[in-house]
Amino acid sequence: MIVVPERIIAGLMTRADAFAAIEAVFAAMARGEARNFPVVREAIGHADALYGFKSGFDRAHLDLGLKSGGYWPGNAAKGLTNHQSTVVLFDADTGRCRALVGGNLLTALRTAAAAAVSVAHLARKDSRVLGIVGAGHQAAFQLRAVAEQRPFERVVAWNRSPEKLKGLACAAEEMGLPFESVSLDRLGAEADVIVTITSSFDAILGDAQVRPGTHLACMGTDTRDKKEVDPTLVARASVFTDEVAQAVTIGECQHAVALGLKGEADIVPLGAVINGDHPGRASEEEVTLFDGTGVGLQDLAVASRVVDLAVQKGLATQVEF
Ligand code: NAD
Repeated sequence: MIVVPERIIAGLMTRADAFAAIEAVFAAMARGEARNFPVVREAIGHADALYGFKSGFDRAHLDLGLKSGGYWPGNAAKGLTNHQSTVVLFDADTGRCRALVGGNLLTALRTAAAAAVSVAHLARKDSRVLGIVGAGHQAAFQLRAVAEQRPFERVVAWNRSPEKLKGLACAAEEMGLPFESVSLDRLGAEADVIVTITSSFDAILGDAQVRPGTHLACMGTDTRDKKEVDPTLVARASVFTDEVAQAVTIGECQHAVALGLKGEADIVPLGAVINGDHPGRASEEEVTLFDGTGVGLQDLAVASRVVDLAVQKGLATQVEF
């Protein structure tokens, strides 16, 4: 069995690696060659923790396994990240354990890569202004990955507590992009691409705030009842997603579908666009929205890639198992 510990992943996995892995697995999902299995998520009644696992099998790349972990709210006080996860990969031919991989950084990289893949395939080519809503742990990963997909000239951002935008401002500065903290009205009026990455349960962006031609990557809503944008905005947009079944139950689409404003059949897997089976953006005026709910196959795809990189670079630890 190969072990790839959390601490070496930053030196192994590039954003380009993550992008390629996520684009390939979305494509395999849309071809019916990769399937996510039902998600388990439970409050364990200890340490206030939420624990679960996401698993699946990608037949195209023979990635079989699971990501297990969850949320331990007391971790910050112990100097640890509240979100903890580990990926276990199995040999698809024998069921033997193939690898154990740290999943914390990979989660941020694969989530940002999903937004970036959506921007690469759906945003207007002439997009110049990037808008970010949210300034938590994931936000800077999103900014870095998405900013590489179009010739952006500046970043506008909004967070509930604007003072927390400093980390995001540094990430923009590192990429040579001017950064401004703005109101939601200005963000919607100026941004060509908007990433939402918050834990909100109420709509932050309304329909009237978003101008024609915008691409939104809604990445924060991954649980029942969470909500980042108004359902009327979802109804107006052409909607794409990682997995339709998750979009309508735990994703941003859940509210528009429950209100009858959008049908399940109207939601297109992003993989269909990647495979050339759906044209994607239909016009320069269309609002496109990617509902990024986060699937286990994304975790397996990036973990498998990082195992290959660790082996290639002689950094993989082999353990008799
Ligand atoms: P975090 O706790 O570090 O940051 C949370 C962010 O949400 C902060 O910017 C906070 O200001 C904002 N926020 C919280 N409540 C809000 C409200 N009511 N109105 C406006 N803003 C609010 O979290 P994070 O690690 O950055 O993750 C952000 C979200 O992304 C979480 O909901 C998480 O579950 C989700 N997530 C999704 C995926 C995916 O694949 N789609 C992957 C990882 C995380």
